Amino acid sequence: MDIKTKLRGDYVQVDAVAWQPFPEAFSTGGIKWKLLHVSPEVGGWTAIFACPADSSFARHIHVGPGEYLLTKGKMEVRGGDQEGGSTASALGYGYEACNARHDQTSFPEDSEFYMTFLGPLQFIDEAGETLAVVGWEQAQVLWAQQTGQG
Ligand code: ZN
Repeated sequence: MDIKTKLRGDYVQVDAVAWQPFPEAFSTGGIKWKLLHVSPEVGGWTAIFACPADSSFARHIHVGPGEYLLTKGKMEVRGGDQEGGSTASALGYGYEACNARHDQTSFPEDSEFYMTFLGPLQFIDEAGETLAVVGWEQAQVLWAQQTGQG
């Protein structure tokens, strides 16, 4: 067994980081993101997302739980209040359980939210077949490519 090294802390001046486009395979309407942290220790990753009015995320399952803080605007999760899900309004906090399936997460107005994912997001098609799995490693690779560090 290899001797593990203790991980350092991390700090990001969020407003000094440029937004990058979140891939269109996983979203529509021009969603942008900033990857703030990845944690191999717990398999987690943390990002902030800017979501223009009428944007949405593609169908996905939270393989692990996640916590978010909606800092601006409105987010309809699991169909929103009208369909038995949640409609979050800033300033709003939410917890999404392990294996939560989100067929559409949409933004009726310009919104921003911060989220920590404890595990990957599994993007699926309508039948539930896996299209992509985005965990801390994939998020880190994508971010490194987009910011020229890859
Ligand atoms: Zn979700």
